[in-house]
Amino acid sequence: MNTGMAKSPVRFFGRGLNLALDVLLPPQCLGCGELVDGGGLLCAPCWDRMEFPGPPCCDACGLPFEYHLGDGALCGACTRRRPPYHRARAALTYDDNSRRLVLAFKHGDRTEAAPAFGRWLARAGAELIADADLVTPVPLHWTRLFTRRFNQSALLAHGVSRMTDLPVAPDLLIRRRRTPSQGRLSPPARRRNVSGAFTVRSSQAERIRDKRVLVIDDVMTTGATAEAVSRTLLRSGAAAVDVLTLARVQRTA
Ligand SMILES: [Zn+2]
Ligand SMILES: [Zn+2]
Repeated sequence: MNTGMAKSPVRFFGRGLNLALDVLLPPQCLGCGELVDGGGLLCAPCWDRMEFPGPPCCDACGLPFEYHLGDGALCGACTRRRPPYHRARAALTYDDNSRRLVLAFKHGDRTEAAPAFGRWLARAGAELIADADLVTPVPLHWTRLFTRRFNQSALLAHGVSRMTDLPVAPDLLIRRRRTPSQGRLSPPARRRNVSGAFTVRSSQAERIRDKRVLVIDDVMTTGATAEAVSRTLLRSGAAAVDVLTLARVQRTA
């Protein structure tokens, strides 16, 4: 039996009758580590603290609006400079509460969360998914893949694919160089940092010709990565690009 999903074998075996369920579902809250009754991803208090940004929002970047401003309304930033992607949407607002969830998934080997995240993404990105021909993840540089062992965005892309029957192209993009951490960079500096970092694998270029590609990533901060990936796909012949992320840093318009 594989007990690798449970952090504590004592807790794991102590749950007796729920053992069979625990093999399938994580017994610990992804937000705080408390045991979760019924095997959900989050305990009730952590669930209540999550912010799921919904409409109305900027038609391009997905920034939530307080009021409905009309179909196709754009935020100030997108009015001044329209991003190369068509639309970006996110399942969660990235804040102190969701950060733990995202980091546990990214660095903590809580990869069993991928199917549930796939459901959240499918709901948040329903409009994008309806128009998409295929999904593809933002790739890691191979040196990062080597140390981390899995690409969290690829797991999310497979999760979306399973929920929607959209084909997933996990190896469509290559990250040509390892980009320095974007942490303290200004938005223009971030754009320069990732500019030219991606390329479409030549053997897969035909797959995206005149197709609408849905790019999946874990977190969108300024959108610099999403923009670099979108430009690469459009230059390589994609008809349009939408971006769907698990979480999104909310700036003000
Ligand atoms: Zn919790
Ligand atoms: Zn916007």
